Amino acid sequence: MKIAIIGFGAAAIGFIERIKNTSNEIHVFEKSKDIYSSSISGIRADGKLFVSKEMGGDIEIDIELQKKLVDYWIDKTGSKTVETGHSFRDSAYYKKFYEHGFQPVISDFYHLGTEQLKEVLYNVFNDFQKRKNIHFHFNEEITKIDFLNGDIRINNKDVFDSVIVAVGRSGHKFVKSITKDFPELILDNTKVDLGVRFELPNHIVDDINKEMYEFKVRYKSKTGYMVRTFCNNPSGYVVTENYGDFVTVNGHAKLKEKSMNTNFAVLTTVQLTQPFNDPVGYGSHIARLTNILAGEKVILQTYSHFKNSKRTKNLYRVQSTLPENNFILGDINLAFPRRIIESIIDFVENIDKVIPGVANADNLVYAPEIKFYSNTVNNDKIHNLKFIGDCSGYTRSIIYATAHGYLMADNVVK
Ligand SMILES: Cc1cc2nc3c(=O)[nH]c(=O)nc-3n(C[C@H](O)[C@H](O)[C@H](O)COP(=O)(O)OP(=O)(O)OC[C@H]3O[C@@H](n4cnc5c(N)ncnc54)[C@H](O)[C@@H]3O)c2cc1C
Repeated sequence: MKIAIIGFGAAAIGFIERIKNTSNEIHVFEKSKDIYSSSISGIRADGKLFVSKEMGGDIEIDIELQKKLVDYWIDKTGSKTVETGHSFRDSAYYKKFYEHGFQPVISDFYHLGTEQLKEVLYNVFNDFQKRKNIHFHFNEEITKIDFLNGDIRINNKDVFDSVIVAVGRSGHKFVKSITKDFPELILDNTKVDLGVRFELPNHIVDDINKEMYEFKVRYKSKTGYMVRTFCNNPSGYVVTENYGDFVTVNGHAKLKEKSMNTNFAVLTTVQLTQPFNDPVGYGSHIARLTNILAGEKVILQTYSHFKNSKRTKNLYRVQSTLPENNFILGDINLAFPRRIIESIIDFVENIDKVIPGVANADNLVYAPEIKFYSNTVNNDKIHNLKFIGDCSGYTRSIIYATAHGYLMADNVVK
């Protein structure tokens, strides 16, 4: 079979790894100009691999397969060095969070670190490109597919028996163009996570960082919205992400270079009902509004000003790890809806009961931080067009995306 894979991220890698030793002819189309060029993704920054039944996506992935894929990624590092840990295996922390209304998320994790990811990706790519049946086409952004007598033509050029779309979240425009032609592919389209990145001195969270590195908790706030922590980076750095139309904040940690601060996201899940059907549009507009206020940058505010809706003009004890030319001191309340701000404040005040100091007045709050959920796509509708990884709406992590690709290829092989 002649198969096109569009996008070369975690899901495509899982797919190819499973199918590489078959006689299928595989063509990979990737919009980046080479294996080193960046697209925004966890396999290019941070690289935390989670093994968990409770997070990572909305499909059932066997723990054994998750562990096997973690070993696959670690095996591609030259050093075989990773930071590891377990979240909420210790019952004392579990009980403390639970007592205050939080749902702790149990997981094991393995942190590759930003510095090792280039080498990891090159080693993955090198293994694939040596094979006669696998062909890479970099600098090829796919914008169009057509059906021709049952086969699929891409970008008005080559024709394939089967097409695997693995474009991640950065490929949302392409997926939207397909679902516009085939609206029956869309199953769900109502959710977006909006929030802030929180930064505080390491010493406040030292104990929990040592205990589990990554603490993930969910909490039903007084507004009724679910709020959660995401992507905790002990001794990490806050960074910006440029989506083209808008700039957001994110965080990452390095294996060797360490800062004095910890950062994590506090995200509120907004799930709206009919006739609403554009969560990406809703999130993007709030992000744009925040950028407009900040002269196309992100806003940084101290926690007490965020809470009391006052513009921040100076920082106090906590200094930012984000370079100064990336942010403006301001007031996030001018851009974010009240219900989201209230949900975040309720969450932070409650975490402070478990870890005193989290709600200190001079801790730092950055906005916008946004996580888009892709539309959930129905993979049973068209037999030779499948969506894998984050663009399918079923996954949100490296391991779940890799596993989704792997399992899809397993079906093809079998
Ligand atoms: C900054 C950041 C940090 C993250 N950190 C972590 C983490 O530490 N741990 C974790 O588990 N998850 C993390 N995630 C999430 C994780 O990266 C994703 O869940 C995972 O990479 C999804 O895999 P994917 O293959 O679906 O998409 P991706 O890995 O994003 O790959 C999609 C590929 O498709 C290409 N592409 C897009 N559109 C087109 C097109 N039209 N034509 C051709 N090519 C196209 C892109 O260039 C990209 O290479 C992070 C995400 C971000 C944004």
